[in-house]
Amino acid sequence: MIEIKNLTFSYLRPDGTQKSEEPQLSRVNLKILPGEFVLVCGPTGSGKSTFLKALNGLAPSFTGGVISGQLLINGVDYLGREPHDFANLIGYVNQQPEGAFVADTVLDEIVYSAEQLAIPKEEIANKVEWLSKLLNLEGLLDQALANLSGGQQQRVAIAAALISGAKILLLDEPTSALDLDGATEVLSILKKLAKEESVTVLLAEHRISRVLGSVDSVLVVHGDGSVTKGKPEDQFNDARFAPPIIELGQRLGWKPLAISNAEANKRWIEAPATFQALSANQPHNLVLKAEELVVSFGNVQALKSSSFELFGNQITALMGDNGSGKSSLCWALQGSGTRTSGVVSVLGQDPRDLSPQARLSLSHGSATSCRLTLPSVACR
Ligand code: ADP
Ligand code: MG
Repeated sequence: MIEIKNLTFSYLRPDGTQKSEEPQLSRVNLKILPGEFVLVCGPTGSGKSTFLKALNGLAPSFTGGVISGQLLINGVDYLGREPHDFANLIGYVNQQPEGAFVADTVLDEIVYSAEQLAIPKEEIANKVEWLSKLLNLEGLLDQALANLSGGQQQRVAIAAALISGAKILLLDEPTSALDLDGATEVLSILKKLAKEESVTVLLAEHRISRVLGSVDSVLVVHGDGSVTKGKPEDQFNDARFAPPIIELGQRLGWKPLAISNAEANKRWIEAPATFQALSANQPHNLVLKAEELVVSFGNVQALKSSSFELFGNQITALMGDNGSGKSSLCWALQGSGTRTSGVVSVLGQDPRDLSPQARLSLSHGSATSCRLTLPSVACR
């Protein structure tokens, strides 16, 4: 579908000279198949957005700069063409589609580009039916764009990008402003587009963990001009941005690396890792006990009645969605946070009875990350 040969791109300074000595993209060579779902990743500022823009003519047409090499789409070289030459070939969706919307309602937005390209009315109607079904927009066609959620707006932007017949879709961090549900739905739609409709999808993302299990390949924009593409498990030798699941596998020496939570779980059960002891408390020593612990803030119950025990030399992962009560639980255990009712005992003592200094030795927290380290218990 796409073949890139010796692609080199440099931004220019306002005075017209090349921005940096090293080009932003330097002699990039790679191929992408029809229907391939590609994750585009790399450290911030490495050139992911630049790479996507080089594929649809926005770079250099809109950004300025110098480009050379070959950009073959279905065998035809499009390098140096204007963005409108790509209109029915490549759809482009960015992080905040509402900034790029031209119409007021969902239907008008979806059909706009097809009307500009003078696609016959009947064909447009058929495509609207197909796309609204595919993107779960059927009940929303009359809605004002301004009233949609971020996830719904992204789905409209994807429909608008595909209506002119594009079989390649470029998305620049489309889920970064979405909540987990919105992001999950957009991701499952992208997967369906690739697998069922043979759309070639290139998705730039920095929240890699969410996507890794869904993509066919990973393309890394390294920041030194080089771009590499390969299987997800082979592409994260650069520790600067490897997602936690990859880092876990690397530290535990898993080969090949696990790229999904399900796979990591399986490996873990088959061969659990052993941890180095951190404290004198043995695994059978009861270190922390919470009984019917409840935390309420006014009408909001942050923690329903919870009872559990934590033993020495164990690391417990505390998990939950945003706002589910993780920090409230940690602070209630540590003693300085709200405890509405219930009992907490740390090595036989109520942490609220300890002096602030002694409590400090139990915990270590900040506004952005609450890391509570109790003797032989670490909750993060
Ligand atoms: P990423 O998307 O990976 O965060 P970008 O492609 O946005 O990275 O940026 C890569 C580099 O190119 C950065 O150093 C950035 O400052 C520079 N850059 C991006 N856009 C422009 C532009 N229009 N003109 C000049 N330099 C730019
Ligand atoms: Mg970017």
